[in-house]
Amino acid sequence: GRTPLMAGNWKMNLNHQEAVVLVQKLAWTLSDKRHDYGKVEVAVFPPYTDIRSVQTLVDGDRLDIRFGAQNVSTHEEGAYTGEVSAGMLAKLGCSYVIVGHSERREHYGETDEWVALKARIALKHGMVPIVCVGEGLAERREGNHVAFCTNQVDRSLDGLTAEQVAGLVIAYEPIWAIGTGETATPQDAEEVCAGIRAQLEVSYGGEVADSVRILYGGSVKSNNVAALMQEPDIDGALVGGASLQVEEFAAICRYY
Ligand code: 13P
Repeated sequence: GRTPLMAGNWKMNLNHQEAVVLVQKLAWTLSDKRHDYGKVEVAVFPPYTDIRSVQTLVDGDRLDIRFGAQNVSTHEEGAYTGEVSAGMLAKLGCSYVIVGHSERREHYGETDEWVALKARIALKHGMVPIVCVGEGLAERREGNHVAFCTNQVDRSLDGLTAEQVAGLVIAYEPIWAIGTGETATPQDAEEVCAGIRAQLEVSYGGEVADSVRILYGGSVKSNNVAALMQEPDIDGALVGGASLQVEEFAAICRYY
């Protein structure tokens, strides 16, 4: 089976001191023996400037928390002012890199082609890309949401081998549900996640499709996560706002 992944995307929140406080509190909460957290993998995605601090805590205290970056350069190294390379992130112990988040597609013009390059370079450096897709309100209203998302998946994985795809995480985040408090219903979310898995099966075969974890993201909270996780093709959550509140994020991690 696929181990559920609960991923906290902090976006552009928390400086490195605040990051240390949050991770310490989170580790303390997850170690509370009154609750079982053993069924999920927990990961946090701090801003670049916090990652070194998070690494020091996780390594020093041997915390059972993974971490990753919210973005990565498409280039290996060199004259790319302001960019951070996959090699640098791997060296910091990042397990994952989020690529193609809708906020990057919207505000920074990231295309599927870029997302595919980022996924490829992350994999090359031993990190697992979390490839984000999701439709806007227009596609949803037109009823094109499944085709829109499977098309994004197809193009965002361009150039990857079946072996590489087998280890991937895909996140389905409908744009209209991000930060709005409006969650997709479990049925809506499952419709797209199942469509993505079916598309993966066509492109890469059943075994690969079965092994890919597909997360749902968009206003996930402790009071809606359980119903989402009931769905057969939803293997975890990519959590924004709620991941900044330790109790709430921990409650999401012990949804079952
Ligand atoms: P919210 O959970 O704040 O809606 O954000 C979702 C998201 O974009 C996670 O990447």
